[in-house]
Amino acid sequence: MRQPQSSEGCWSLPIAAVGGGIVGTINAKAALWFRVGNRGKEEIFLNASGRYGINRFRQGAPDRRDPRHFESDMAVAPNPPEKMMFQLSLRRRGISDQAVLRAMEEIPREAFVEAVDRGDAYRDSALGIACGQTISQPFVVAYMTEQLNVQRSHRVLEIGTGSGYQAAILSRLCREVVSIERYRTLADSARARLKKLGCDNVEVIFGDGFDVPDSAGTFDRIIVTAAMEQIPEKLLQRLEPGGILIAPVGPHQGVQTLMRVTRTEAGFDRKSLVDVRFVPALPGIAREL
Ligand code: SAH
Repeated sequence: MRQPQSSEGCWSLPIAAVGGGIVGTINAKAALWFRVGNRGKEEIFLNASGRYGINRFRQGAPDRRDPRHFESDMAVAPNPPEKMMFQLSLRRRGISDQAVLRAMEEIPREAFVEAVDRGDAYRDSALGIACGQTISQPFVVAYMTEQLNVQRSHRVLEIGTGSGYQAAILSRLCREVVSIERYRTLADSARARLKKLGCDNVEVIFGDGFDVPDSAGTFDRIIVTAAMEQIPEKLLQRLEPGGILIAPVGPHQGVQTLMRVTRTEAGFDRKSLVDVRFVPALPGIAREL
């Protein structure tokens, strides 16, 4: 941690290194505050005991020397502390793309988990959903999204809609998402959930990701959220030139490697990213549910 840069009263500005990420700190009334994000003209802070607060830029820049300004807004922070910790832990583990962090902040994960798991929605772990499937761990969702390098103009294909959470995150970052799910129950509930949340640029298809309908066209990005033993050549052919595919590749039972494949003029560049564990990608639509 660097030394405080300011000697003005009880504020010390900025900077603390937390894990991989750099966040500002404010030493107000002897408590250490971490800046965990921005929401428009507000800066959001969290302290070690889980209290949170907002610094509003009401008249231009905030008066950082006045801790009362900060403390007085503490009661009106709109997000629960666990959501602040969620953001902090994503940053700490190295997620730095602001658009990805914003999407992770704005999409309510609690709307995608089972009712009994709502209290755990902001823990960094995968959770069970219907049909014996899982909603991925938030860090993995953020990491895969960051590695996909999605642009506003992109059409993105997801294989494995599951709860619809990853599709919702993508919907904030690109023009259009097409997401395919082999369980009808999951496809129907994800579609309804995404509609309710206003993710109008997502189309959920009940179908088989190993057999993407021709009518779906080609994509700038493809994200596979179920483990494939190998990446089918015909899926790679659905990538636009310069396109990127991310998929967990490896044995169904055990550890897989997250692979990033980029379509170049010469062919396909493959890169291994990290080890992961996903439920298997199975061929065909599910016969039940
Ligand atoms: N992205 C999801 C989590 C995916 S879990 C989320 O954000 O919640 C993996 C999902 O892939 C499961 O729902 C599983 O049914 C689905 N799946 C597995 N094989 C598939 C295939 N061949 N085609 C489409 N979906 C598949």
